Amino acid sequence: MNTVVVATSNPGKLRDFAGAARRHGVELLPLPGFDSLPPAIEDGATFEENAAKKAVHYSRLAPGQLVIADDSGLEVSALGGAPGVLSARYAATGPHSGNASDEANNARLLAELAGKSDRRARFVCVIAAARAGRLLRTFRGEAQGMVLPQARGTQGFGYDPLFYLPALGKTFAELAPEEKAGVSHRGHAFEKFLSWNDTFSG
Ligand code: IMP
Repeated sequence: MNTVVVATSNPGKLRDFAGAARRHGVELLPLPGFDSLPPAIEDGATFEENAAKKAVHYSRLAPGQLVIADDSGLEVSALGGAPGVLSARYAATGPHSGNASDEANNARLLAELAGKSDRRARFVCVIAAARAGRLLRTFRGEAQGMVLPQARGTQGFGYDPLFYLPALGKTFAELAPEEKAGVSHRGHAFEKFLSWNDTFSG
């Protein structure tokens, strides 16, 4: 497989991608100097739009490289699909206040679900692949689960401690990176990307 550059500085996403890559014996590289690059504007209404915006933007800054970026979030049935594309900013205080902390986002999620018996939720991840400012393809992965009334586990990031998989009897925060990659939205999207890339790169 050719070298693939991952455009994210989110340590949780990087850990997930590294776990997924190890499962498949491939190596991913971080985008050099990511933190000093101008950020992509994530103002799309869908995961696909935002993932594409990020991958296209960062691929312009990494000439000649195949660049992937993801946009992801949690869709909760009883909340009409919220927080969805706003997952990183769910507990933010205003439209320009940036992302909220994981703790604040989890606290808001529990408050919104208080007293509700329908706890079904799904994680969605869309990976976009781009080269030289041109979108090549997007890949969607999903994971179905439930929102627990209290946190469990110490691994992972974001909503992981609240996201429970009945089939495993564990939350995402109770899984090692390779285990999470086997069942997660990001792992599923990454597998689709890999099979496309294997065909594409011959
Ligand atoms: P974005 O893709 O950078 O807009 O951020 C996605 C947000 O969704 C993260 O900041 C987390 O709050 C949440 N999220 C996405 N994927 C995961 C995951 O695998 N575990 C926990 N939270 C996630």
